[in-house]
Amino acid sequence: MLKLEHIGIAVKSLEASLPLFEKLLDSPCYKTETVDSEGVNTAFFRKGESKIELLESTTADGVIARFIEKKQEGIHHLAFEVTDIEAEMKRLQGEGFILLSEKPKKGADNKLVCFLHPKSTNGVLVELCQEMPG
Ligand code: ZN
Repeated sequence: MLKLEHIGIAVKSLEASLPLFEKLLDSPCYKTETVDSEGVNTAFFRKGESKIELLESTTADGVIARFIEKKQEGIHHLAFEVTDIEAEMKRLQGEGFILLSEKPKKGADNKLVCFLHPKSTNGVLVELCQEMPG
């Protein structure tokens, strides 16, 4: 793993949370993107090396909606950047971690992503992400 790439935060409403995070971080959101396969609208902030990703559900029963129902708004996942996601998935699987998908999926922000089951990571949802070429 190269570094902590971003922290994902589940919010009820991007419209309500965007101005809050712009004030908090004193910098504008630089990108919003809908990821249909995950049922989320995302918004990204950059502070130095680190990014914050806000996640809003696009459906009433999506993963983010269900997360907020159970745990309220807040930190949803930690994302670590890797250079070779398939190799890293294989390594982690070999160490006994549970992957939530067998293949990397296309995520937001031009990334290939794979999540680890929080059951196998002390309750922390971990995302692996690799920058897509091009
Ligand atoms: Zn993420």
